[in-house]
Amino acid sequence: MNLTNLETILKKEPSFRLKQAKEAIFKQLINDWSQALNLPEKLRKVLNKNCSLVIEAQILESHDKKSVKAAIKLTDGLKIETVLLRHGNRNTVCVSSQVGCPLGCLFCATGQGGFKRDLASEEIMEQVIFFSRYLKPLGEKVDNLVFMGMGEPFLNYENVMAAIKLLNSEETFNIGARHISISTIGIIPGIKKLGDEKLQLNLAISLHAPDNEIRSKIIPINDKYSIKNLIDAANDYLKKTKRQLMFEYIMLEHFNDSKIQAAELADLLKHLPKHLYMVNLIQYNTTKGFRPSATMAIKKFQQVLVQNGIKTTIRLRLGREVKGACGQLVGDLEK
Ligand code: SAH
Ligand code: SF4
Repeated sequence: MNLTNLETILKKEPSFRLKQAKEAIFKQLINDWSQALNLPEKLRKVLNKNCSLVIEAQILESHDKKSVKAAIKLTDGLKIETVLLRHGNRNTVCVSSQVGCPLGCLFCATGQGGFKRDLASEEIMEQVIFFSRYLKPLGEKVDNLVFMGMGEPFLNYENVMAAIKLLNSEETFNIGARHISISTIGIIPGIKKLGDEKLQLNLAISLHAPDNEIRSKIIPINDKYSIKNLIDAANDYLKKTKRQLMFEYIMLEHFNDSKIQAAELADLLKHLPKHLYMVNLIQYNTTKGFRPSATMAIKKFQQVLVQNGIKTTIRLRLGREVKGACGQLVGDLEK
């Protein structure tokens, strides 16, 4: 898909044409301009030549079709992965914000695969358009977005926000900010900027460890944005926005999953307003180097947090069958 020339081409046309074109893209979800019957034939041809709507992608569906992974080929040939999770009554798309990720977290397949480039806002939109087209024949639509695919959204802040503002608008998918979550490894300037945005977006911070020593072993960027500063930034964010915040914590066996570490984590969070945050314990999807914690260890860890008055949930392993679970996205279905 390539819409970079759309506005330039339509500038020469009456002003309502742009509105019609957007309706065709986002509401009718056409994949070829010849289907845009409200546009004159000549214009359809020009658009097909210059603004392709074709999204080249390979998909992989789980048996129950509740998890679908797509590898989308970008115009420069690079590939990104995006995942549709159809659970409960909701269709959630897990979107990528970069091709790869420069931060190299040890437990994350994306991070281990290196970094290519940021995604343009249009390429972020494209992922949602793709799954909207997929769901259309089923009479369903995309209701929720999580920026938990490939990449670190706050290292591509401007394009991510531009895409969110578009996805949020009635002209496109009208996805409410409350249905959009951004997950960050803890890029403090990004947390600050998000706190100043008017949108009621949800924020998740990937904490994964109760102290700097352990965190730096798995998250290299912790040397720059250390735990104390991160928790302070989270506190400022909560006080300023009064929005809900989620701390994500991957459970790695004999590494960060002991009851003592749970108590340390509770201590770390004790000054934050309890009604505004929760901890989400994540079952680790094995990539390499670590083993997932035993279910019993996860439950005991949860117990300690709950005893300290901290709302704590355990994240199911959604999307594993298609290797579309968090941290398993590498950009190519064949790998
Ligand atoms: N860069 C952002 C967003 C992408 S990762 C971030 O790190 O938050 C989205 C979530 O998947 C994060 O919580 C991340 O820590 C988690 N994740 C990464 N690798 C994982 C793995 N192997 N198993 C389970 N979760 C993983
Ligand atoms: Fe990047 Fe997030 Fe993976 Fe770390 S966990 S390498 S920040 S995508």
